[in-house]
Amino acid sequence: MCKYDYQCKLCGFKIDVKAEYKDMQDVVLKVSSDCPNLNPVTKEPIVLDAMYELMVPKEKSAVMQLREFHNYNFYDETKEYILRR
Ligand SMILES: [Zn+2]
Repeated sequence: MCKYDYQCKLCGFKIDVKAEYKDMQDVVLKVSSDCPNLNPVTKEPIVLDAMYELMVPKEKSAVMQLREFHNYNFYDETKEYILRR
């Protein structure tokens, strides 16, 4: 498992992200924060296809899609975690 945290650049709330392999294929990303703007990503864990994340360019990554919610992304840390496995 891998954990990282940030301060929200837009509103100052702390954002905690936990990434964990569920099985050989899927990585589960759990985002928690009091930042109301992150509700769409904190409501439920995000399941990532690790192989997909490794193969697509950054702009197609599902992690990068999360930016839409709050101009925030966990791309570099998440990819690093996926690669370490
Ligand atoms: Zn925020």
